[in-house]
Amino acid sequence: MSRHIRKKLGEKDKAKDVKGTLRRLWDYLSNRKGILYLVILMVIISSGAALLGPFLVGKAIDEYIVTKNTSGLLELIIALIVVYIFHSLSVWFQNFWMIGVAQDTVYRLRRDLFHQLHLLSIPFFDKRKHGELMSRVTNDIDNVSNTLNSSFIQIIASILTLVGTVSIMLWLSPLLTLITLTIVPLMVLGMKWITKRTGRLFKEYQQNIGELNGYIEETISGHSIIKTFSREETAMKDFDGKNRRLRTSAYWADTYSGFIPKLMNVLNNLSFAIIAGVGGIFVLNDMITIGVIVIFAEYSRQFTRPLNELANQYNTMLSAIAGAERVFQILDEEEEAKDEKHAVEIDEIRGEVDFQNVSFSYGKEAQTLVDVSFSITPGETVALVGPTGAGKTTITNLLTRFYEHDKGMVLIDHQDIRSIKRNSLRQQMGFVLQDSFLFQETILENIRYGRLDASDEEVIEAAKLANAHSFIEKMPEGYATLLRQDGSGISQGQKQLLSIARAILSNPSILILDEATSSIDTITELKIQEALKRLMEGRTSIVVAHRLNTILQADQILVLDGGEIIESGTHEQLLEKQGFYHGLYQSQLKASS
Ligand code: ADP
Repeated sequence: MSRHIRKKLGEKDKAKDVKGTLRRLWDYLSNRKGILYLVILMVIISSGAALLGPFLVGKAIDEYIVTKNTSGLLELIIALIVVYIFHSLSVWFQNFWMIGVAQDTVYRLRRDLFHQLHLLSIPFFDKRKHGELMSRVTNDIDNVSNTLNSSFIQIIASILTLVGTVSIMLWLSPLLTLITLTIVPLMVLGMKWITKRTGRLFKEYQQNIGELNGYIEETISGHSIIKTFSREETAMKDFDGKNRRLRTSAYWADTYSGFIPKLMNVLNNLSFAIIAGVGGIFVLNDMITIGVIVIFAEYSRQFTRPLNELANQYNTMLSAIAGAERVFQILDEEEEAKDEKHAVEIDEIRGEVDFQNVSFSYGKEAQTLVDVSFSITPGETVALVGPTGAGKTTITNLLTRFYEHDKGMVLIDHQDIRSIKRNSLRQQMGFVLQDSFLFQETILENIRYGRLDASDEEVIEAAKLANAHSFIEKMPEGYATLLRQDGSGISQGQKQLLSIARAILSNPSILILDEATSSIDTITELKIQEALKRLMEGRTSIVVAHRLNTILQADQILVLDGGEIIESGTHEQLLEKQGFYHGLYQSQLKASS
């Protein structure tokens, strides 16, 4: 798409506080203040040289060519060459230094942003889409970088050139300047007329391209579904429609935007004609010299260009400022609360867990946990049971301090968890979650994530204990097999075995297990059960349980409903009660055994 199309700004492209954002961006830039001033100096020199060039040519005509003064002309040509060499050098240096400043600035911005993302709490991430956060680290920062690279110099140069040319023109001949400037309103009106249309067309084009890209993405990720349901034809037809709409809107947007340089050209020629015609009459009346006509002709081209450039840069700059503002917003987010002043490290813990009248809510709305109390003795396995949304996961979230409870006390080995450093607390815990995250790394490194200083032998030992060794050995490159981030290439069950191996390696005192609800083939399932049994041996384990087998083996079952513990005991005790658990057992759990 031609760069002459002025992008119509959407809501998200507008910064709320342009001044404040610019000031903060300047703070980032000012780390390199010295070089930045040098850049500005170079821009002044190059703009000055660009003004001086035509001025000297005019002087050459009036003072040396008309009077046939060869030696004077020669001197002036040398002066002209020197001016243009200065011009080229200063342009080269300003670009060279500015790229350095821009890259250094976005480097620091990116570093601070990434650092900040790690300090933010889990609730922060809950509230935002991952795609949006990704876009801030990548697109928004790219936007800032591009704009710093190009716009900063261009804006200063354009303003200097504009002010410089008009001042010199006014000084040489105010009347001819006024006549030449009559072209400006025409130019502004013409640009407005075109950009009003291109703005609308460009918006349509953006929408269509967004739709088409979304459709392509969907089709590629859902290609197996499309094949399964034999929907290839429909998909192609849909695509064709979208592709056609994109073609039409791109055609009109391009056509209209192509008018801008042509219009500029026409107006430039018109202005040249006015200068030559009116200027000629002025020369005949001895009001100006021929050299002045040449200077005017050259300058009139120079001042239309910055006008055009400023108009082009305007919207790009506004979206970059909006991008920078979004980046600063994240930098301003409150970090996960700092540890208490007297928070301590914990080393060896026995794994006793106590919840005392704990209440919690995620937002201001309904309470998620109400007055929850229970105790787990070291090494015990506790199964949390209850319908979806009962608050099982929330209990584990409070124990890890991903969220802070509102009322009551949570104790580990009789110590309030708020008086323990978060990192130290989390180091004591191991997790096997439903959907364990795998990094785009080898199997070996993925397991080692459990404990970074583990040796290869220890990793393999953990894999053996997790019943993962045999399937890993069968992979094309064994432990060196590269996993894909989406976990494709290995099965759900194998993924769980890897995550168990990770937990075994980290050797936690307290284990948090979120049992998978999806069914896995019987053999793998048995392997998982066996591996889990090994993992849970001698550790305090809290299991968000879905399988009857796990529940049967638990030392204690806590039955939750609506954020409250409504029953607790062993399987037999609870069945005897004929209460909620009994109903749950009859309707769901039995089927999963
Ligand atoms: P369970 O694990 O028993 O299925 P959860 O503990 O995940 O239940 O959820 C308990 C309640 O809290 C549900 O109503 C759920 O919608 C809500 N909830 C869970 N996580 C969040 C969150 N991050 N923000 C807001 N509400 C949440």
